[in-house]
Amino acid sequence: MVNGNIITLEAGLGRAELVAVREDRILHVGGREDLDNLKDRNTRIIDCHGKTVLPGFNDAHCHFFAFAESLIGCSFMPQEVHSISDIQKKIQRFSKGLPPGTWIKARAYDGFYLSEKRHPTRWDLDRATSIHPVKLTHSSGNAHVLNSLAMVTVGISNETPEPPGAIIERELSTGEPNGILYGMGPYLSKVVPSFNTLDYNTGVKEAGKKLLCFGVTSIQDASSQNDMNRWKLLKHWKNTGDLKCKVKMMLGYEAFESYQKRDFSHNRKRDQLDIRGVKIILNETTGRLYPAQSELNEMVLRIHKAGLQVAIHAIEEPAIEAACTAIAYALEGFSRKDHRHRIEHCSVCPPRLSKRLASLDIMVCTQPSFIYYSGDRYLRTVPDSKLRHIYPIASLMKSGILVIGGSDCPVVPPNPLPGIYAAVSRKSKTEEEILPKEGISPLEALRMYTEYGARANFEERIKGTLAPGKQADLVVLSADPTSIPTEEIKDIQIEMTIIDGEVVWEDS
Ligand SMILES: [Zn+2]
Repeated sequence: MVNGNIITLEAGLGRAELVAVREDRILHVGGREDLDNLKDRNTRIIDCHGKTVLPGFNDAHCHFFAFAESLIGCSFMPQEVHSISDIQKKIQRFSKGLPPGTWIKARAYDGFYLSEKRHPTRWDLDRATSIHPVKLTHSSGNAHVLNSLAMVTVGISNETPEPPGAIIERELSTGEPNGILYGMGPYLSKVVPSFNTLDYNTGVKEAGKKLLCFGVTSIQDASSQNDMNRWKLLKHWKNTGDLKCKVKMMLGYEAFESYQKRDFSHNRKRDQLDIRGVKIILNETTGRLYPAQSELNEMVLRIHKAGLQVAIHAIEEPAIEAACTAIAYALEGFSRKDHRHRIEHCSVCPPRLSKRLASLDIMVCTQPSFIYYSGDRYLRTVPDSKLRHIYPIASLMKSGILVIGGSDCPVVPPNPLPGIYAAVSRKSKTEEEILPKEGISPLEALRMYTEYGARANFEERIKGTLAPGKQADLVVLSADPTSIPTEEIKDIQIEMTIIDGEVVWEDS
């Protein structure tokens, strides 16, 4: 590639005009004058016409399976539905012609953006269909609504006790569940049948393509349901070419418990697929942490002793505190340098906790895109005491914490640019500012989605910056995020995506 505005992000290399690739590796980074010495008859020369070239984006926290499902199910994103009656109409249309008993699964509703300002109930959904079981997933993924038939099908009745850490919302007068469920995702994923293979493959193909067109060359799947089965599926899609992105999969804790090393033997180079770490959900739904501190300590210790990385989902102060305590407990028993344990989200984090995270050398994987997509909701629903410490990215970085970027897709789209924009501007889609003092420089924001993501995977030697010997994963952008007006960063287009030296996506 020549005539590029190449941002290498590599210390000592800075910017360059040319990057040469041989097979799947970067051979050379330098000036345009180096071209004559490098090219031969078979060299493909890509003229970048001054466009910006970066290392491929690394989405350090996403949910590929749910993303694929979101592309084939019914979607209730705020721009698509404005009221519960919109939801009912959409389900009615979707259910037409479906054999009775077929599950309807819909994603991404958010009561805040509905005119009724509430969750739909089972009775609202019954009005749309009573012959198909319906499962609605909240945009956060942490709440679900089932219609009456779905409730019966999965076996939730007046007598059903709450699973630990979950809430079955009930009518005050009768105790009858109203269909709204909190923290029951893991339970539902076991009892609600998955999509049929044909539909699923369509979703997977589309999801794989979407990642490439957003310039994402590596992902980390952070789903707590991840197990051997999912591992095999990912492997299958890598082989069919439907999933071209490089993938690291975190294991869910249950799968880790039955984890045996020999089950995961594979050809890394061919599959570009690896198990990296174990995900623990620290559930704050009921106001009490689940798992409780002592159990969490032992879980983290077991993962730590197995030599793996721990990634703990913790959103608010008590959960982040408990996660720190558990990691400290593991480190006290078995000290290990460079453990790279992670907190996922770390959404409300006051300075006192930042200091504790830094002292334990814990990384934070957070979602700047949430500021862009949901910032207006935070301003109206999050109390001031928490809003003061919401996604404090600059403060976390100043404390010496490595802060990594992830989309949490399908909660929001896996396009890193609105995230990079929000990390810099601290602005929502509606152009409202959320804690502007926590803004960072465009270059730091780019590192969150490249270099730091690679570090979180122990891959800094092979990925994350553009330097000789590293894997040739690159993106070409329509503009330079470090020099254009901040407002324009979110609209930057990806013009080309390259994985291992192969052009896998091109804007036509
Ligand atoms: Zn997530």
